[in-house]
Amino acid sequence: MAKQAKETSGEGFGGLGLDPRLIETLSALGYEEPTPIQRESIPPLLAGSDMIGQAATGTGKTAAFALPLLQRILARGDDRKKPSAIILVPTRELAMQVSEALHKYGRSLGTTVLPVFGGQPFDAQIRGLKRGVDLIVATPGRALDHIRRGTLKLGGISEVVLDEADEMLDMGFAEEIETLLAETPKERQTVLFSATLPPRIAAIAKRHLTNPVKIQISRETLGKGEVPKVRQTAYMVRRPTKLPALARILDIENPTAAIVFCRTRNEVDELSETLTARGYRAEALHGGMTQEHRTRVIKKLKTGAADLVIATDVAARGLDIENLTHVVNFDVPSAPEQYVHRIGRVGRAGREGVAITLVEPREHRMLRNYEFATKQKIDVAQVPSQADLRARRMELTRASVREIILEDQFDGFRAVVESLSDEFDLMNIALAALKLAHQASGTEADQSDEELAPVDMPFEGRREGRGDSRGFDGPPRGGKQGGKFANDARPHGRPDGNMARLFLGVGRHAGIRPQDVVGAIAGETDLSGRDVGDIQIAERFSTVDVPKDRADDVIAALNATKIRGRRVNARHDKH
Ligand code: AMP
Repeated sequence: MAKQAKETSGEGFGGLGLDPRLIETLSALGYEEPTPIQRESIPPLLAGSDMIGQAATGTGKTAAFALPLLQRILARGDDRKKPSAIILVPTRELAMQVSEALHKYGRSLGTTVLPVFGGQPFDAQIRGLKRGVDLIVATPGRALDHIRRGTLKLGGISEVVLDEADEMLDMGFAEEIETLLAETPKERQTVLFSATLPPRIAAIAKRHLTNPVKIQISRETLGKGEVPKVRQTAYMVRRPTKLPALARILDIENPTAAIVFCRTRNEVDELSETLTARGYRAEALHGGMTQEHRTRVIKKLKTGAADLVIATDVAARGLDIENLTHVVNFDVPSAPEQYVHRIGRVGRAGREGVAITLVEPREHRMLRNYEFATKQKIDVAQVPSQADLRARRMELTRASVREIILEDQFDGFRAVVESLSDEFDLMNIALAALKLAHQASGTEADQSDEELAPVDMPFEGRREGRGDSRGFDGPPRGGKQGGKFANDARPHGRPDGNMARLFLGVGRHAGIRPQDVVGAIAGETDLSGRDVGDIQIAERFSTVDVPKDRADDVIAALNATKIRGRRVNARHDKH
């Protein structure tokens, strides 16, 4: 039975067995509490256990395996020339991200990390390897290339991490993983993290892990009658544009009292400063502040002296604000319980509350867990456009003008209008005054709509009118665990009756476009482009609908060829 990672309980990082230097680093980064996956993983990993962790990006899984790894390296003492740990990841982006995280966490310990991925010259990587490093973060293909060239030896490896294992398999790295594991000593520690745990992952775990501890982010749902009355919306945004996107969303939503949740103290400080500079009445609230200061901030929100409180979960614990209208997740919550807990602060006493979540494209899987936990749909919306903002601002100006007319207090202004009316039409005077008032009420959005569009959406449709290719398919129906829910999201319905859906292990990361898929099928089989149905290109895989009676032929043909130089790994889509 897998352990279920629970909501954080308020002890901070103490008590997990981490070295004080690591705890200090985490505190400097503004981390207040371990995430559930970290709380469950760190002690057994420090003790040397193997582990299977079911966790998606956004849960804090990188630190969950990175912190114990760094500490175990420290315990090795001086023999630090050869790498002692290798972390295998599916993509170059993830290799860079994970090695950056390891560098960040390990700085105070002086550990060295080298990312090794394809598409980069070998020389620099070889020089790095020769210099000697503690940890390697590698994509499987490139790691194997180095082994074949004799520039990387895994004989001294004592820890292996397979990160995003399901994605590595989807990308066709199964063989490479087997070969790489065979190069490492048998008595190593092996850790496997995967967002989903299909049988193929279980098979790898069975072959290569010894008595693994199993940890998964809990799928507990709310009981009957507990579901809050909350309008839930998610916006897909890229990290660098999160702030302008949030500013636009706040402009449209115009909350009277909102809490914006961030992960770290540093983020809270940064966000509240930036939002204040943009004219919002925002206050910071985090665990680093005195109780007195915190009480003052909360009072400001309660009395309407502030519109926004930017907070960490720890600081907002137990906070009960009657008039709260909005909860905003600036970062995705690291577990469904945390999501439920955060949004449970609105929608009280029969009033409708609003929960807004900013999601980076890589984190889109988390939304399904939140939907499952709240048993409610989360709408995926576009960040408001400049036109939306203009319309909204005009609406507000109109409402203000109306209010002033009804107040009827125009002493001193009447004479000005009368003198202007000798020269101009009353309509034109009204228009000019309105323009002046409107301009004084704020400035236009400073970022273009294109800049705020998420380039890295999880799905991209080929044909219009077939479902919402930008979203995902909502909560699992029937509440069954495992099965479809345990696997990746499909943005569109089942294929037509006489069509079958095929899964291809190549996606946008490999530069695959719909026309490449059509081209390969038309070129390698006797089907024509017209026979090919719906195509969806995701970041690391694609699906294509083909006539059912020809599905096996298409799979065989695609597996005998390459698209854009990549093996296709076609198979029947099981979802
Ligand atoms: P991951 O799921 O590993 O991609 O991590 C998601 C984000 O959470 C990263 O930006 C981390 O820096 C951040 N993070 C990880 N653990 C914590 C924590 N305990 N407190 C605050 N932020 C964290």
